[in-house]
Amino acid sequence: AEHHRDQRVAVVGLGRFGISLAEELMRRGWEVLGVDSDEHLVQQHRDTLTHVVLADATDEVVLRQLGIDEFPRAVVAIGTRIEASILTTSNLLELGVPNLWAKAISRQHGKILERLGAHHVILPEHEMGERVAHLVTGRMLNFIEFDDDYALVKTVAPQSTTGMPLSESGVRRRHGVTVVGVKRPGEQFTHATAETVVQPGDVIVVTGRTSAVESFADLT
Ligand code: ADP
Repeated sequence: AEHHRDQRVAVVGLGRFGISLAEELMRRGWEVLGVDSDEHLVQQHRDTLTHVVLADATDEVVLRQLGIDEFPRAVVAIGTRIEASILTTSNLLELGVPNLWAKAISRQHGKILERLGAHHVILPEHEMGERVAHLVTGRMLNFIEFDDDYALVKTVAPQSTTGMPLSESGVRRRHGVTVVGVKRPGEQFTHATAETVVQPGDVIVVTGRTSAVESFADLT
């Protein structure tokens, strides 16, 4: 039998973060209910999202009237007004939204949202700042860190990995990272295998423990 996922997301707060998120969901074919208490923002995004509603999300009755309790996913994208963020998060949890993401603007704010029971807490500025630090200091072109000290990095191939099959270069043994993808200039990424020969100037994607991929990306 075909399995239909409920592809609806409620996004509360249509500031820079909320609207970017909502528009990306729309591009991916999801249905988005946007909620904001600012009349101008609601007007502005009337036609960009599936539904846009002018409402104060700190009011639990209003949220119930909007049917947000029926949504499988919701994001609280209120930042600067911490009190409103906390109340809204608490309301949505009370209403039983099963997957709730909440944006925080400081670590303390994030801690409160976590203690309230938010399923996922996002710290966009902190997380992006840490990520950009990796790009600024090294040769990394992109850096994504997962939980549990594991990261994925896009970088220019260091010399020690080029000119021979990956199995012979000993990348995994010597540096503790695994090359998963290779890209020649002007071409698409392809999956790396033991036989892949990386050329100078190629861009590669490697995975491994964060400290290992960091050191690896510092090699020339
Ligand atoms: P950003 O940094 O992403 O722009 P902001 O915190 O500045 O985030 O914006 C959050 C949005 O949340 C604003 O558009 C604001 O109008 C909205 N907002 C704030 N409080 C409430 C509330 N109680 N109910 C609904 N929307 C709210």
